[in-house]
Amino acid sequence: MFDTLSDRLSGIFTKLRGKGRLTDADIDATAREIRMALLEADVALPVVKGFIANVKERARSAEVSQALNPAQQIIKIVNEELINVLGGEGRRLQFAKHPPTVIMLAGLQGSGKTTLAGKLARWLKAQGHQPLLVAADLQRPNAVGQLQVLGGRAGVEVYAPEPGNGVGNPVQVARDSIEHARRAARDIVIVDTAGRLGIDTEMMQQAADIRDAVQPDEVIFVIDAMVGQDAVRTAEAFRDGVGISGVVLSKLDGDARGGAALSVREVTGQPILFASTGEKLEDFDVFHPDRMASRILG
Ligand code: GDP
Repeated sequence: MFDTLSDRLSGIFTKLRGKGRLTDADIDATAREIRMALLEADVALPVVKGFIANVKERARSAEVSQALNPAQQIIKIVNEELINVLGGEGRRLQFAKHPPTVIMLAGLQGSGKTTLAGKLARWLKAQGHQPLLVAADLQRPNAVGQLQVLGGRAGVEVYAPEPGNGVGNPVQVARDSIEHARRAARDIVIVDTAGRLGIDTEMMQQAADIRDAVQPDEVIFVIDAMVGQDAVRTAEAFRDGVGISGVVLSKLDGDARGGAALSVREVTGQPILFASTGEKLEDFDVFHPDRMASRILG
């Protein structure tokens, strides 16, 4: 991910090497090239516009240290703006004052929700928590079975509808799971919900009903970082339809252009909490905006 963007940016910075001082014309030309590089990486237009306006303004003001040469100054500004667009300091998971903390996962089918549920459960367990996984995705064939396998690997209990009871009602399953978590003294409940291949009102309504039933402390929107420009529309739909409190980027190990990763924070107004970087349960970590920015700058 970000390979093309990284190459483009480093090419732009190389051209500035050896310049004694940046004229306004140099700054404008550099800003134009950075703008093109971001657009080609599928970063959403409003995000690109804000980014470029900030870079230009800061490059023109004499805020940067005289100790840096022009190329270093621009790199420093771009680095800081990348960190900004990715969420600045970042935010950690919020726990309820009175357990159980309820974390609901939402996103399109295939975005990596069920995998994330397993990863999150494993990660929380390693920190001494007693999580419960809840299989409320009754839409996708075998989502329940998949969660049971992941729960087994993570050593975490999975609450699932009884087999043989027909399709079952996901809202009821989710509601009952909270009661079960209380009885079994689980301090965190992770609710996996159904996605569809595209956004539809029935799916949003079901997610909203589950949200109302479990009153989550966090609604985490899982987005496949490979999806490019579509990411913005999907993120907006979940923000408006379910309401989200945080984002997880999945499939950051892929070779997409990375635009979704750079847009989703601004589009949703919510922080990126975790990054998923593979199919295995351990391919997962807390999201660090500064590390991601360094990776982009190479
Ligand atoms: P869901 O429909 O949202 O529950 O999506 P799944 O969790 O079933 O994931 C869909 C596919 O993406 C599965 O084949 C996963 O193994 C794969 N997957 C999930 N997360 C990642 C990731 O971070 N990297 C890669 N490469 N694949 C992933």
